[in-house]
Amino acid sequence: MVATGPPTCGLLGRSPIFSVMSHSWLTPSAEVRDAGGPGLGVFATRDIPAGAVVAGFGGHVLDLDAFDALPPDRQVHSLQVSAELFLVCPEAADPADHVNHSCVPNCGIAGNVLLVTMADVAAGQELTFDYAMCDSDPYDEFECLCGEPTCRRKVTGNDWMIPELQDRYAGHFSTYLATRIAELRALPGSSDRL
Ligand SMILES: [Zn+2]
Repeated sequence: MVATGPPTCGLLGRSPIFSVMSHSWLTPSAEVRDAGGPGLGVFATRDIPAGAVVAGFGGHVLDLDAFDALPPDRQVHSLQVSAELFLVCPEAADPADHVNHSCVPNCGIAGNVLLVTMADVAAGQELTFDYAMCDSDPYDEFECLCGEPTCRRKVTGNDWMIPELQDRYAGHFSTYLATRIAELRALPGSSDRL
C-alpha cells in the first residue's frame, strides 16, 4: 500500500507534493481493507452519495502488443481504456487499484478513468464495479466470487456485449465501449445488438 498521509520528513530539496503523489486517486471517504475471498478491497469509511467521484485511475499506458508481453500478474492490475490501450498499475499498487469486481456493483465508470457511485453507498460497504464496464479483451477472465445471487460466475472480456448489462449500465461504460455499443445498436437488423 502507498502512504497517502501528509509528508513527514526527508524531502531533501523536493516539493512535499512528491511524497503524496500517486498514479491513482482514491476518495478520502474510503480505505483499503481485507475483503475476504478476493483479498483486499476498498470500503467506504463514511456515507457517500450517488454520483460522487470515488477514484481516478492512472498508471503506465501500454498498447496491446506491449500489454500482451506483460506477465499475467501485472496484466490483472490494469484498466482497459480503449480497444488497444491499457493503464497498468505501478508495481506498488495504489489504494484505488484494489477496487474489486462485483456482478451487482455500486460504482460505474465515467469517461475512461473515473469511478463514480451509481447509488448511495453507506459507510462500511465495499466499493465495486463490474469489469464489463471497461474490458473488451480476455486478459482478465476469472471465476467470479462476488457471491451475489445474480452472479454470472464467469467474468469474460465479452461481457460488455450482454444486452442486459448494456441496459443496466447505460451511462457507466468506459467511453470507448459506450461508442461501440451505440454503433452496434445502430446497425440495421441489430435489435439484439449482436
Ligand atoms: Zn459475480
